[in-house]
Amino acid sequence: MNAAAQSDAIRTITTHYIDGAFVESHGREVIDILRPTDGQVIARVTLANEEDTRCAIAAARRAFGSFGRSSKEERQTILRRLHAAASARISDLTAAMVEEYGGVVRFAGPIVQSGVDAFLAAEKALQEMPLSRSWGKTTVTLEPVGVAGLITAWNANVLFVCLKLASAVAAGCAVVIKPSELSSLQTRVLVEALHEAGLPQGLLNVVTGLGTVVGAELVRNPDVDKISFTGSVPIGEKIMRDGADTMKRITLELGGKSPTILLDDAALDQGIPAAITMAFLNSGQACAAGSRLLVPESRLDAVKRAIRDAMRAFTVGDPADPKIAVGPMVSQKQYERVQSYIRKGIEEGAEILVGGEGRPQGLESGYFVKPTVFIKVKNNMTIAQEEIFGPVLCVIAYDSEDEAIRIANDSKYGLHAAVIGTDLHRARRVASQLRAGRVVINGMTDDPQAPWGGFKYSGIGREYGRYGIEAFLETRAILEA
Ligand code: NAD
Repeated sequence: MNAAAQSDAIRTITTHYIDGAFVESHGREVIDILRPTDGQVIARVTLANEEDTRCAIAAARRAFGSFGRSSKEERQTILRRLHAAASARISDLTAAMVEEYGGVVRFAGPIVQSGVDAFLAAEKALQEMPLSRSWGKTTVTLEPVGVAGLITAWNANVLFVCLKLASAVAAGCAVVIKPSELSSLQTRVLVEALHEAGLPQGLLNVVTGLGTVVGAELVRNPDVDKISFTGSVPIGEKIMRDGADTMKRITLELGGKSPTILLDDAALDQGIPAAITMAFLNSGQACAAGSRLLVPESRLDAVKRAIRDAMRAFTVGDPADPKIAVGPMVSQKQYERVQSYIRKGIEEGAEILVGGEGRPQGLESGYFVKPTVFIKVKNNMTIAQEEIFGPVLCVIAYDSEDEAIRIANDSKYGLHAAVIGTDLHRARRVASQLRAGRVVINGMTDDPQAPWGGFKYSGIGREYGRYGIEAFLETRAILEA
């Protein structure tokens, strides 16, 4: 698969998925989808308006009337069907993700797989979850919250859609999904796949449109009971404020500025490549990217050498090439954002060890940036505090374990963190003091039953496993006199 060779014809999408069918948009606004490797138009998408959104909400409300009373077994059957339907299109989904936003295939492949696997993971979690408890004359049941609006970010749209849908269905909710408008092509492939699952009519609705139009309607509409959102802090704050008018239940998966603590007993030949992999995950456009690397002052010179060596393997180029580690940024806007942070870092006194401003040689036409590592970074600098969402790593020196923990926690965010070291007891002790929703030890790893979500400004609530399903449930107690 070669992203550049993929699309000579410009594709058009004019429909939304409402009440079990692809229906023409009431909206008239059309956006171009640009391929990040060369900025060419690859698709034109007609965006939904409020009327489309209200039709989708009404369909979901009707579906909830019966699906809200479904048994665990019925929901499990549907989750297995969704898994089978999505599995059939894994390579198309990966290709769309690579082409549409320049996600490197070595990341896009596993991300799509984990999205598809989310249906089976939710089925397993549901199987193990007691939905009812009784004692004496009291019975407590966990009831679906109702119609859920699922709003996603572009950077791993297929995963977010599958994950949120899986948890909502496991809980017995009907959904209206508003994917990122930057993910229209991948969403179309996914929805065509899920259509084959033969779901009850109206259970799944997908309307692609602007956040300020479709997203805002979902948030204010009294027939939507719950919003599950993945995206930026300012929009998360707005959703909380606006959702209060209709007492929405809200889950927010927001940004991060994740620390990686390299302990002084870490093996650099493994630890540094692991740290850079976490920093440049999804070309740095990942909420969990380990964008602050905390290293012992005493090992700084050795760390710098190890970073320079390791960076040779982090090549930039065509995201469809499995050897490539860093692809283009999703858009010109994102390209400029990364450039402005690199300039800011230099102005504030940090020093460039690798990379810098501008495009890498030979990659002048797309939104490519140079993977960049800054040294001499102080944790109060803008580049160490704000989420850049690009391949920019800040190396921050510390003197003691306590100082490393203090610096790691000195952030408005608390989504993800990592500890790298040889002594596991010590690494666990450090991990247990980090104010983050997920901490990994000695490299990026995953467990689909483990919760995902943030402390502080990284969000509210959790996804994955039983934690993700609980976010779509209400508790009811029935007491007999
Ligand atoms: P964004 O906040 O700009 O947009 C996210 C979604 O919200 C989009 O679908 C957008 O159309 C919609 N939206 C915009 N305005 C809205 C409004 N007024 N009401 C309702 N919806 C609205 O974020 P983005 O640029 O798509 O994604 C990048 C951000 O997402 C980063 O901050 C990143 O850290 C975060 N993110 C978090 C996680 C996580 O799991 N915590 C995962 C991926 C991305």
